Amino acid sequence: MSALALAVSPDHFIGGERVASKEHFEDISPIDGTVIAEISRGGAAEADAAVRAAHAAFPAWAALGPQGRAPYLHKLADLIDANVERLAEVECLDMAMLLRSLRARVISRGARNYRAYADLAVAYEERDWRSNGTWNRVQRMPAGPAAVITPWNAPFMLSTWKTAPALAAGCTMVLKPAEWSPLSCSLLADLIAEAGFPPGVFNIIQGIGEEVGAALVSHPLLRRVSFTGSPETGRHIAVAAGANLVPFTAELGGKGPLIVFEDADLDAAARKAAGQYDDSGQVCLAGTRLLVQDSVRDAFLQRFHAYVDEHVLGDPREDATTLSPLIHPDHLARVSGFVERAREAGDTIVRGGTRAGGLHYEPTLIEPRSNDAEVVQREIFGPVLTLQGFATEEEAVALANSTEYGLSGIVYTSSLGRADRVGRQLRAGTVWVNTFLVRDLTAPFGGVGISGIGREGGNYALDFYSELKALQILEG
Ligand code: ADP
Repeated sequence: MSALALAVSPDHFIGGERVASKEHFEDISPIDGTVIAEISRGGAAEADAAVRAAHAAFPAWAALGPQGRAPYLHKLADLIDANVERLAEVECLDMAMLLRSLRARVISRGARNYRAYADLAVAYEERDWRSNGTWNRVQRMPAGPAAVITPWNAPFMLSTWKTAPALAAGCTMVLKPAEWSPLSCSLLADLIAEAGFPPGVFNIIQGIGEEVGAALVSHPLLRRVSFTGSPETGRHIAVAAGANLVPFTAELGGKGPLIVFEDADLDAAARKAAGQYDDSGQVCLAGTRLLVQDSVRDAFLQRFHAYVDEHVLGDPREDATTLSPLIHPDHLARVSGFVERAREAGDTIVRGGTRAGGLHYEPTLIEPRSNDAEVVQREIFGPVLTLQGFATEEEAVALANSTEYGLSGIVYTSSLGRADRVGRQLRAGTVWVNTFLVRDLTAPFGGVGISGIGREGGNYALDFYSELKALQILEG
């Protein structure tokens, strides 16, 4: 099936209109490697047109206030809910996420993002107080046109998560989705038009990161830049934003520990550990380093292997499938490169370690020869976990904190005291105890170290997209 058959436009969405580029690039489906669309390949001209459209639309959008903007976001959320099936099919074809997860929760989470931020912005009160004979108020001003750059692994969910606070706070937007999975955001553009957003408020441009993305983030009319992707690209974008003195927020991947203490519910821990292969490990929050207390190693591993054995590699459109193909041949080569280097370096491949037909890769567990091993220290972003043992709580915390990353951590223990102690000591933006991925949208979200700069989520994101002003009026 092609994008044409799916009725997805291959073009940009600028100033409320579809705009085509002369050049195109091929979008392939990871399911069978076929070309499903020829997408407009934007460059500096398209980036400039989109930012200028956002700049022109900004004063009127900002002047609406949170109450005036909320109905647009709610309408967009309703349209997403009404189009779950189409969005799910397109996302599945484009990046091979499991169709049943997309239908059941991933797409509707996009709707929830717009609703939640519309309501949060309305509820966000300006602070008033009296001191020194003056009446004080913190006023919030929408920051201006914002650029959002999103990655290929959860294109629709992350694009909605990152654009919702910007729009709710009163910024106008240019969104640049990743070139490996551009289609769901093109459908989003149709829904933005249908929701009646004023032209220029929400623009979407397509193309290659180093081309249109780089032109976008260095545009002098932008007032905010927000990015999710790799630390390498994050550094480039930080430099571009910094050169224009534009505040920048970034979520840059992770290498999360999943710590299993001897007092844990081992069955629950093993099931969740096997679940770290979900989405074939293309999840920045995944707990990819299994740290298991020595005294329960065998009991844990026995359960873990049994749960991993239940995984079914296959077509993401089929109900029985639990593990999808990887996004792209280049990514498969990258993932298998990590495993091959580990093998050559003398790490032990406990299970997996091979390709599994098409773009599939076997769920893989590696016992590294030391904590310095590349597979322990670098984000692989595939179905590859490492296994390390520890004797004491101190040792577990030290290992958990021993990479440059700091996005997430998962802890399994039945002791509340230990949950609190270890939770406090982990150097990470998010820690889960005895669970994973449960999130309240008002909680802060972001990374420590090379996992990111700044925080998204709730009022933290609304603050990022605002300028805060202190107003003082003499009483009398
Ligand atoms: P990943 O490793 O997840 O593919 P990247 O960091 O390469 O992540 O890409 C994430 C997003 O950043 C994509 O939308 C990509 O097009 C974009 N991108 C890549 N390079 C640049 C750049 N130099 N400037 C702006 N955006 C870029």
